[in-house]
Amino acid sequence: MRLEDLPIRDDLRGRSPYGAPQIDVPVRLNTNENPYGPSASLVADLAEAVRHGAAGLNRYPDRDALALRRDLASYLGHGLTVEQVWAANGSNEVLQQILQVFGGPGRSALGFEPSYSMHPIITTGASTEWISGAREEDFGLDPGKAIAAIEEHRPDVVFLTSPNNPTGTALDPAVIARIVEAAPGMVVVDEAYFEFARTGTPSALTLLPDNPRLIVTRTMSKAFAMAGTRLGYLAAHPSVIEALLLVRLPYHLSTLTQAAARVALAHRAELLGTVDTLRAERDATVEWLRGKGLQVADSDANFVLFGRFADRHAVWQAVLDRGVLIREVGPPEWLRVSIGTTEEMAAFRAALEGIL
Ligand code: PMP
Repeated sequence: MRLEDLPIRDDLRGRSPYGAPQIDVPVRLNTNENPYGPSASLVADLAEAVRHGAAGLNRYPDRDALALRRDLASYLGHGLTVEQVWAANGSNEVLQQILQVFGGPGRSALGFEPSYSMHPIITTGASTEWISGAREEDFGLDPGKAIAAIEEHRPDVVFLTSPNNPTGTALDPAVIARIVEAAPGMVVVDEAYFEFARTGTPSALTLLPDNPRLIVTRTMSKAFAMAGTRLGYLAAHPSVIEALLLVRLPYHLSTLTQAAARVALAHRAELLGTVDTLRAERDATVEWLRGKGLQVADSDANFVLFGRFADRHAVWQAVLDRGVLIREVGPPEWLRVSIGTTEEMAAFRAALEGIL
């Protein structure tokens, strides 16, 4: 039997699953991970926490992950409390729960593209109509046009991604505030890459006290170098968290996930200690690419979008043939490279130089 023969939902027919290729090559710069693995002492603390948790694995985990949410609130600051923070398996699951609550049949969500391709996938997976808004030539948002699109479509959910994936573009909180004011429903600011933003870039968390329809999502997959742990979280008004409890599966966050995430938060000085290095490497990469005469989007994230190539697939393949995996994503003619270690970026430059 083939997939097409199964009685799946009509709106899933003909779809492809999300997935960056997981190819085993020496240099993987395609999924915006942090290239620095945990130190030996962090590994030891993680193992100890898992050992401790393992002794109680006959019992379900803390269903509300209270200790972890308290730790996350304290990391976020801004006076946030446990009642304003929620966590799930990656920010993808957090986003899915948001769509399950605020989307649904007859409802719509609007995002400004190019942006994170899971936003439309999660939206349509929740039987919600996806409306594609546009970004400017420099990948920024024109607040007047963004508000006009919101007024035209009246979406139940608006996605803003800052810094945006795959372009690296950060949004001014003043623009976010205007959009929240104009939006008839919820506004989700996806801050997966916030920690990489240039110093001084304010978080949308600053807008939470005045905006109960604002949700700010974060992840431990990027700056925290914990992509394998699968821990995403959000901050919002306490009533939003209450609403999310209506759709979350009971015991969705395993005992081991909660324990590992808490250890990582306790080691945050070490984990986030790589951010400055990655920012410097990013800025050097932008400069190098521009020096080669390429077009490069300004980046506040741990990746860089560059182009333009009439046949970007050929460039992607040629770089891969030299042992470096980057990402074919974003507008046609552009490619994205995640920031790796100094050695990995040297390998990337050498690979690209051989082609240009
Ligand atoms: N938001 C954005 C903008 C992303 O780029 C990603 C990962 N690529 C995510 C959310 C999801 O990350 P995770 O589920 O690992 O938290």
